[in-house]
Amino acid sequence: MAKNWYPIIDYEKCTGCLTCVSFCPHGVYEVDPDTGKPKVVNPENCVEFCRGCQKVCPTGAISYFEDS
Ligand code: SF4
Ligand code: SF4
Repeated sequence: MAKNWYPIIDYEKCTGCLTCVSFCPHGVYEVDPDTGKPKVVNPENCVEFCRGCQKVCPTGAISYFEDS
């Protein structure tokens, strides 16, 4: 459990490719049915200091709460 470590998506940069949703094995994301873009639904499942989804995001849309 990582209270201060979870992804934050910049929806201006996000294209909705869903690479991050497919990539994360921890169920942090779900697809928002309204926008077709990822939504962080289980931030507590995010692994502290993991930057996996950030690395695979083609548009650099993912940062982390602790970075902000
Ligand atoms: S940082 Fe790692 S654990 Fe957290 S959402 Fe991204 S891929 Fe999943
Ligand atoms: S990988 Fe990046 S651009 Fe693709 S859906 Fe996730 S946040 Fe958006």
